[in-house]
Amino acid sequence: MYCYLNGKLKDKDANNIRLENRGFTFADGLFEVIRIIDSVPLFLKDHHKRMKESAQFLGIKFSFSARECYERSVYLIEKNEMYDGELYWQLTRGDDEFREHGFRQEHTGTFAILTIPLRHINMNNWEQGVSLTIYPDLRHQLCEHKTVNLLANCLAKNFAYEQKGYDSMMFRKDERGRKYITEGGSSTYFLVKDSKVATPEIDNILPGITRKKVIELCKSEGIELEERRVFLEEIDNADEVFLASTVSKVMPVRKIANNDYPVKGVITRTLMKRFAELIEREIEEKKGDRLAEV
Ligand code: PLP
Repeated sequence: MYCYLNGKLKDKDANNIRLENRGFTFADGLFEVIRIIDSVPLFLKDHHKRMKESAQFLGIKFSFSARECYERSVYLIEKNEMYDGELYWQLTRGDDEFREHGFRQEHTGTFAILTIPLRHINMNNWEQGVSLTIYPDLRHQLCEHKTVNLLANCLAKNFAYEQKGYDSMMFRKDERGRKYITEGGSSTYFLVKDSKVATPEIDNILPGITRKKVIELCKSEGIELEERRVFLEEIDNADEVFLASTVSKVMPVRKIANNDYPVKGVITRTLMKRFAELIEREIEEKKGDRLAEV
């Protein structure tokens, strides 16, 4: 298996990354997970934009254009024969001999591209829905950036797995002590009530690429949607709930704690279908012309 490191093709299992890398010592970095279907890395331009903007915000050097990332990613997919799987990009601030917290000009940035086999997901999940647990959001104030600082997300997801769930809905408390739900350990969620869809506004949560696509689909379908704070108690009365993420796509939720939901809800099913069609179009568009301008 091969990987790209700082633009150069390497053997993935050679000792490529130094132990002094700030990604390792400080979790000082960003990542993207991009779904590969039929050899096509989906919505790559959106993922590149998110990484680039966060790198700018955090002052991490990122010199690869969307075009360069696209070409290398496609080449790697072919080379590793990973026609259906995940593309993983990781960008860190680079090596730091002194393990000094402050940033310095010499930090050149480390950028890796890997292909990863698709994680195991029960295919029935899309038909039968998944169950979610509730877990406190123990994270920091930088959740609008896809940082590699994922310990709190791991705790939330691991808690879900221990209860045979798929993910946890994480909650914070507002100034009056009311619990509101932020997002899943690795997913965004949407609630449907009286044919209206609600999803949390971007307030210290990740601006998910799938979330963005689902919001666009709601608009084109004429489905009313609100981006706002969603309180935990609202899950008791929701008509439908679904998750959205690169790997989960649009996935129905059948249970959260003691609440059951119909997995064949009309809005969920419509959006699942529309999202699948969007993926089909993306594959068609990018496939014939692999190295076309993205
Ligand atoms: N929220 C969190 C915390 C995530 O980690 C992810 C994906 O891993 C998402 C939301 C979904 O984002 P995307 O649709 O860009 O995959």
